[in-house]
Amino acid sequence: MAIRSVNPATGEVLRTFDPLNEEAVLAKIGAAREAFVRNRDSPLSQRELWMRKLASLLESEAQELGEVITLEMGKPISAARAEVLKCATACRYYADHAARILTPEQIDVGGNEAYVRWDPLGVVLAVMPWNFPLWQVFRFLAPALMAGNVGLLKHASNVPQCALAIEELVRRAGFPAGSFQSLLIEARQVEMVLSDERVAAVTLTGSEPAGRSVAAQAGWLIKKSVLELGGSDPFIVMASADLDLAVETAVKARCVNNGQSCIAAKRFLVASEIYDKFEAGFVAGMQRLKIGDPLRDDTDIGPLATIAQVRDLEGQVRLAVEAGGRVLTGGERVGGAGNYFTPTVISDVPRSAPVCRQEVFGPVAMLFRVRDVEEAIEIANDTPFGLGASVWTRDPEDERRFTMELESGAVFVNAMVASDPRLPFGGVKHSGYGRELSAAGMREFLNAKTVLVAAETPAAAVQPDPQAKPARENLPPLVAPMRVATNHRQSRMVIRLKGRKR
Ligand code: NAP
Repeated sequence: MAIRSVNPATGEVLRTFDPLNEEAVLAKIGAAREAFVRNRDSPLSQRELWMRKLASLLESEAQELGEVITLEMGKPISAARAEVLKCATACRYYADHAARILTPEQIDVGGNEAYVRWDPLGVVLAVMPWNFPLWQVFRFLAPALMAGNVGLLKHASNVPQCALAIEELVRRAGFPAGSFQSLLIEARQVEMVLSDERVAAVTLTGSEPAGRSVAAQAGWLIKKSVLELGGSDPFIVMASADLDLAVETAVKARCVNNGQSCIAAKRFLVASEIYDKFEAGFVAGMQRLKIGDPLRDDTDIGPLATIAQVRDLEGQVRLAVEAGGRVLTGGERVGGAGNYFTPTVISDVPRSAPVCRQEVFGPVAMLFRVRDVEEAIEIANDTPFGLGASVWTRDPEDERRFTMELESGAVFVNAMVASDPRLPFGGVKHSGYGRELSAAGMREFLNAKTVLVAAETPAAAVQPDPQAKPARENLPPLVAPMRVATNHRQSRMVIRLKGRKR
């Protein structure tokens, strides 16, 4: 099927591309492998120069690149420009910090020399989503290339022009040919790329089903994987909070990126004492947002990225209402051309409703009244996801409990959850595993290689520790071995306990 770039504000087909055939994909994997050797062997100072050049290109072309983003996926142009500039900050962060992160770690083992080197793994496949079509890619690309890895990008099918623009930027920055290539392929072709033995690892940012499928393949192939998946992040407001600031931030936190962000706040848990005031302020704030042409600088909310997104959101609003929810504002698609959806607030959805356990990917907020910290934590954790939580309180004891007891990859206190090149980013539970950004993100695709150089005198060599536990192979197995089979066509994994009757 052709890969189509469609303007979500008008429905106009901007460009179409034929997916690469197998031969073309194999040639690109070969070019990536050759580039890996050149990139790995280039001095770090050279890679730093290329990375700084990449940052400069992003900064000087933020408007043009922003327009490509807006035209393909509909976010307001001001947000698209900001996204491009944020990519530049990631490039500069890794140019500044790679030497520190990659410095071998000396370990005192008494007599012998021992250290850990950080070696790149090789060709890494990045399967990426459309919602931040540059930022999601750069937060993988910048640390990977700085560390000496190379990348193959399978971008979401609706943002092929963004994919090609990124490849072109990396080439113009000076990285060796083949260091970062976009594969215009369909999702079903990912398995073929990942199975190629020249591909060392995979990172996927996207939905839970896509993550499950790719992780199952990677597990079967015994290749390193990182998953950044969906979220249903709580935004918790306690009675001690600065209410005005919490309300203002809540609107932003729900509607950032037209509501299509993994870390957008999705469930609002508000203390009973202040609930009514919060609800009134929040509804008014959502109603003030200006929906319209995403190419205009004064637009707050553009169209959703695809018509499928609109249909999913309509279905979820219906589910919430059928379960007893009350729509306080919005709740429907805007008529006419384009995938516009009105900012929506729903209250009184019973916690047991299936929609409460789904990720709602658009400008639709659900409000819940909570008695106390105890109940807030209980509801916040009652989800398969665990990406980020925003908590609003001035009480140190509340803060201690939230930061300790919330099951999420991040807790932001009196602030909305956001990514930052300096901070590790990732989730727990069905939001995925592994981390992006910071030193942690760079190390995901490095081999922590232990080197031990024996001292000249045999007496100083490593001596066995008489207290040490028996070798792992002598211990009984903890669990019965399992057989894992992947059914790629249906994107599901079947796990069978060995010996159990089917
Ligand atoms: P998606 O449908 O899962 O697609 C993501 C990528 O995976 C696309 O390139 C897609 O290709 C590919 N893909 C889909 N199914 C696949 C399969 N079975 N095998 C291999 N590749 C497959 O997600 P999306 O709709 O683009 O993005 C929205 C999701 O991403 C949301 O759930 C959001 O929360 C999540 N997200 C998470 C983070 C994070 O950091 N945790 C950040 C941003 C977004 P096609 O486009 O060709 O289908």
